Amino acid sequence: MRPGSGAAVGFARELSEDTTALVLGENLDAIADEAAKFAPVLAADNPTLAAPVADRWAHVIAEVARAQNAELIVATSTTWAKDIVGRAAGLLGGAMASDVIGHEVIGGANGELRLRRPMFAGAVNATIVLEGSPQIITVRPSAYDAPEPAATPFAIEPVAIDTDTLPNTTRFESLDRKTGARPDVTEARIVVSGGRAFKNSEDFEQHIGGLADALGAATGSSRALVDAGITPNSLQVGQTGKIVAPELYLALGISGAVQHLAGMKNSRVIAAINKDPDAPIFEFADYGLVGDVYEEVPRLIAELDGSNSAQ
Ligand SMILES: Cc1cc2nc3c(=O)[nH]c(=O)nc-3n(C[C@H](O)[C@H](O)[C@H](O)COP(=O)(O)OP(=O)(O)OC[C@H]3O[C@@H](n4cnc5c(N)ncnc54)[C@H](O)[C@@H]3O)c2cc1C
Repeated sequence: MRPGSGAAVGFARELSEDTTALVLGENLDAIADEAAKFAPVLAADNPTLAAPVADRWAHVIAEVARAQNAELIVATSTTWAKDIVGRAAGLLGGAMASDVIGHEVIGGANGELRLRRPMFAGAVNATIVLEGSPQIITVRPSAYDAPEPAATPFAIEPVAIDTDTLPNTTRFESLDRKTGARPDVTEARIVVSGGRAFKNSEDFEQHIGGLADALGAATGSSRALVDAGITPNSLQVGQTGKIVAPELYLALGISGAVQHLAGMKNSRVIAAINKDPDAPIFEFADYGLVGDVYEEVPRLIAELDGSNSAQ
């Protein structure tokens, strides 16, 4: 299971013990076994679902939700979910909220579900109530923890797929994605991000990549570096990039423009290094160091390497 998937199960289980996990794709035995540690599993395992083609997956999600009389359909807020879950909501009717970061149930177990979600690129956090059924919700991966795994795994049942009724209007061609060993920036517990302070890809990899590897972290980037061709688009954090909320976000040589903050300001702890003591990032940082990243980052890496090898 992707690390973030636990958040959806965790959120669902906080609301109801009667939670079922639906896994979709092909050759799902390993992932179904893993999901069965948390909830009974329905496995939609079929070659026609091998690639996450949104109209097919949404169709299966909607069919299963109807058959189960599901009142609540929950997924983790990811790039794929943005494409797939909204379509499932469209097929099901009801009401949808995406990117939920918190909730409250008012008036007892069956009371009103109030959801907290950022809006307008994080400028406000809205508290909303969905009217209608079913309710379709995506939650931020970092906002909820996976439940404790059960001592005895839950049952796994196959979902029968009627391939004749699956939508056939989109064909999967290919997928380009980074195949590095580092975690994805949206799923990592620690994100090390670099900004315009870094002059080229080699410097970025040596400093940001080096520190990320020493911490087991993901790398992120400001848009300034993406626009300059120094980092790939997939690393961009911010209003027009990825929204992240890791336990620790390191902003290195990043000024703290409002569009960058929109993507990371909900991180649990923010630490920044910048040579300008008046850089706006320091207003949002829990820890700040005024200094040159070309001096401070190698020092940090050396300290971490020293403590790692001492263990
Ligand atoms: C519609 C729109 C959408 C946008 N979306 C995004 C987005 O999604 N993500 C995003 O990041 N930006 C986005 N931007 C761009 C954003 O406005 C900023 O231009 C960008 O975030 C700046 O990146 P930066 O902080 O790396 O660079 P700068 O603002 O140039 O800051 C560089 C910082 O590095 C410091 N520095 C320089 N050298 C060193 C050194 N040797 N050691 C230490 N510190 C040093 C400087 O003091 C400075 O604070 C968007 C802009 C618009 C208009």
